[in-house]
Amino acid sequence: MAAFVTKWKGNEKIRPGAGKARKMGKFFKESISKMFSLKEEIPRSTDLVIVGGGLVGSAVAFFVAHKQTNREREIMVIERDPMYTTASSSLSAGGIRHQFSVTENVQMSMFTTKFLRNIKFFLGLIDQPPPDVQFNHQGYLFLATPEKAEKLEELVKMQKYLGAEVEMFSAEMLKQRFPWLNIDGIEAGSLGLNGEGWFDPHSLLAALKQRNIGLGVRYIDAEVIGFTKKLSAPETIGNQYVLASVISRDTDGDMFETNCHQVVNCAGPWAGQIGELAGMGTETGALSIPLPVVPRKRFIYAYHCHNGPGISTPLTVDITGTYFRREGLGGMYICGASPESEEEEPSIENLDVDYEFFNEKIWPRLAHRIPAFENIKLKSAWAGYYDYNVWDQNLIIGPHPVITNFLLANGMSGHGLQQSICVGNAISEMILNADTYTVDLSRFNFDRIIRREKILEDFIV
Ligand SMILES: Cc1cc2nc3c(=O)[nH]c(=O)nc-3n(C[C@H](O)[C@H](O)[C@H](O)COP(=O)(O)OP(=O)(O)OC[C@H]3O[C@@H](n4cnc5c(N)ncnc54)[C@H](O)[C@@H]3O)c2cc1C
Repeated sequence: MAAFVTKWKGNEKIRPGAGKARKMGKFFKESISKMFSLKEEIPRSTDLVIVGGGLVGSAVAFFVAHKQTNREREIMVIERDPMYTTASSSLSAGGIRHQFSVTENVQMSMFTTKFLRNIKFFLGLIDQPPPDVQFNHQGYLFLATPEKAEKLEELVKMQKYLGAEVEMFSAEMLKQRFPWLNIDGIEAGSLGLNGEGWFDPHSLLAALKQRNIGLGVRYIDAEVIGFTKKLSAPETIGNQYVLASVISRDTDGDMFETNCHQVVNCAGPWAGQIGELAGMGTETGALSIPLPVVPRKRFIYAYHCHNGPGISTPLTVDITGTYFRREGLGGMYICGASPESEEEEPSIENLDVDYEFFNEKIWPRLAHRIPAFENIKLKSAWAGYYDYNVWDQNLIIGPHPVITNFLLANGMSGHGLQQSICVGNAISEMILNADTYTVDLSRFNFDRIIRREKILEDFIV
């Protein structure tokens, strides 16, 4: 078990631990804490620190805790927003699709579908009903112009080769199947027939968290504000570092230092800041390169249409990039779109919604593609942050090449929800030194940023 630290109120100084005497203190502290319901203190040492307890952090914790045999590693998830008010995971659209242009992206989502189908096995608790993440099995429909149709067909072949159940449909076939669709300017579309859809991210997060706590994972309400780093190899063979401890500040403003063996960056949109605290982008050589992940604001609008497309409506992505899907069964839909250029990126200062974006950009495109949407009533809207990888909008995963015990699981840029489960599994395979990897994600390591190589995904929504 980890030792516990004493806190120093209102004082920026962080004292290291006091050795064996601390263990005696721990017993009294725990008893007193229980007696007076004092809050639990932050452990002074642990094996694995996960920064961020959203879906990625919780999936990492789950797979490590679930696979290790004797709870040999203590796992601590540090989360500064335990209600997940601004976390990307809880503000997302909940979509999962197998239609990507990068093969690993297809494989990652297929892994998650399998996990969701077997959720009872992974996350079920004895004597409790199985977790219900409300998985709506409804495909994605990607529409294509005459210029893009051939490319789409090639990608569908690749997706099918990997086992995805996707089919190409001509515009006329689409019209027959979906009479509500205006096929002007459309040559063809690819439709997911099985395994795609949407689910409730918050329910999945809650189920993971509950299971993790049962497996001994500790969730700590605090903010990571720094690390201590030390050289791990003689300078003669090139500087290699390890993060020796994590500095965090709890909800009362008290600061703690926790020694650790490994740290995983699962801070979602704020991953770049955690990278910087670890030294990325602040020094020379490989450490001169920052982690290129920043928050980018995206909006979701919910509207009602009394005669809109029915129950078997796929999540439809128009040629303009605007998407919509059904939300429940009462004539409600949600929709959204990414800005068309960097200049149009909304300010990230707050999570205020831009209603003009809906009126001027989204609604006209939707009403053109689905004429029934001429008559809608906007009911609500919200905004959230994408964990946006400004380099190539794809996952960055694996140990940092120079800070060797610092693992990255970042930058999924709008498809992180469906990748979180596979990413969690992949990080667990790295931590537990697996012989083989379920999905080989080695191309997605940080080295590609150093080499200035990009992995570009055509299916960005
Ligand atoms: C509007 C919108 C729609 C989306 N739709 C989809 C979709 O349909 N399908 C899909 O696959 N993906 C979608 N995404 C993307 C997806 O939600 C994210 O990629 C994914 O949730 C990222 O998960 P995460 O755990 O990395 O990040 P988060 O859920 O943001 O978790 C990171 C956590 O780290 C914590 N944290 C940050 N800094 C610190 C610190 N210093 N100390 C302690 N804790 C810290 C934060 O509080 C946060 O809770 C969407 C995102 C948005 C915003």
